[in-house]
Amino acid sequence: MGKIYIIDVTNRDGVQTAKLGLSKLEKTLINIYLNGFGVFQSEFGFPTTHHEQLYLQANLELAQMRVLQPIRLGGWVRAMKEDVELAFQRLPQLKHINLSISTSKQMLSGKFQGRRNFKDIIKSMTEAVDAAKSHGAESIGINAEDASRTNIKALIEFGLAGKAHGAHRLRYCDTLGYDNPFSIYESAKALAEAIKIPIELHCHGDLGMAVANSLAGAKGAIDGGQDAYINTTVNGIGERAGNADLVAVALAILKSKDFAGKYQMGKSIDLSKSFKIARFASYAFKVPIPINQPGVGANAFAHASGIHADGVLKDAGTYELYDFTELGRGEPELVETGREIITGQYSGISGFRHVMGQIIGGIAADGHVDGDMSLTFKNDKEAGEILELVRYANVEAQKPLVEEELLFIAKYPEIARKLLTLRPLDGD
Ligand SMILES: [Zn+2]
Repeated sequence: MGKIYIIDVTNRDGVQTAKLGLSKLEKTLINIYLNGFGVFQSEFGFPTTHHEQLYLQANLELAQMRVLQPIRLGGWVRAMKEDVELAFQRLPQLKHINLSISTSKQMLSGKFQGRRNFKDIIKSMTEAVDAAKSHGAESIGINAEDASRTNIKALIEFGLAGKAHGAHRLRYCDTLGYDNPFSIYESAKALAEAIKIPIELHCHGDLGMAVANSLAGAKGAIDGGQDAYINTTVNGIGERAGNADLVAVALAILKSKDFAGKYQMGKSIDLSKSFKIARFASYAFKVPIPINQPGVGANAFAHASGIHADGVLKDAGTYELYDFTELGRGEPELVETGREIITGQYSGISGFRHVMGQIIGGIAADGHVDGDMSLTFKNDKEAGEILELVRYANVEAQKPLVEEELLFIAKYPEIARKLLTLRPLDGD
């Protein structure tokens, strides 16, 4: 029986969302958290975009250093030979890639204004797959944008052509959130049966069904005899009404009726990282977690009415499907209510030493802050160098950094230096 894997696209779909964005340091921390959560692959960015170069390189270095292991880091490019060539020219170490192109009639006539027909689409995609293979890509996904409005026969033709050239997965993009669980189940099953490669489900929330559609699509792919890959974003942040929320998808797979215990994850999920990753993304995107967000919202384990409170006090299972401790909630937190010294872009050495001295803990490879080792510097020179990087991180983030970011900079100063270096090309 096929398994379910998660490919998180926060660092691609999430950051291309209108009015929202992440600094390169924040994107890196998201990758570290995703790794700790058990996400199979992070779609970590855009290899053809110049300002992503040093960030992408730095994250591939973190993978080599085993900080970002075992998570896979995958790039996203348009399914065009020129884009693939440029991606590998700029990032030769890239091993995983998704190639995206529109497949629906609406997109062909609306976006390409009739300049390209379906044959041109297939040609562009297969040439892109060939190019990715020639550069040593170990996994190649082909993305059918607007798949839910594409004729199923055309999608099968697209998938078979990609497979014949060596593509490993077909991404079924419900780009407009048009599907419902019944329709996506049928489509995913038909594609899995006909093309016989794993199916990725990329669902949006325009009709409020992103998580439900992801699960139904995954079931379709597995019932069709293939593995399923669900695309998620942290807190569901994504274009317009957003994508399928990472924590909600994991909860739905692991806890829902007739899914729990039957459909297996290809890689085990550590739900106890849920609260931390949701809160970090909320801080980084500057978007509060909705009060009723599954698992991580402020009301997810709150009870007021007499009957509910009485029931839950006698037996939590009466009105709760899962326990808050499973999601890493319930730990006491220290909140400073008196004097605060904060690091900023104009901070000096004494304030910085004070802040770093107060941070208890160290950052582990999975993004978990633990231990009770205070951070100390060898000498003023070292402290000064780290402070300079912290100042730059503040210039980019325009908000006080959180502990995990300060610790990351102190632990990996050379990586941080790359993440904080932004140099526009002249005349390119
Ligand atoms: Zn999308």
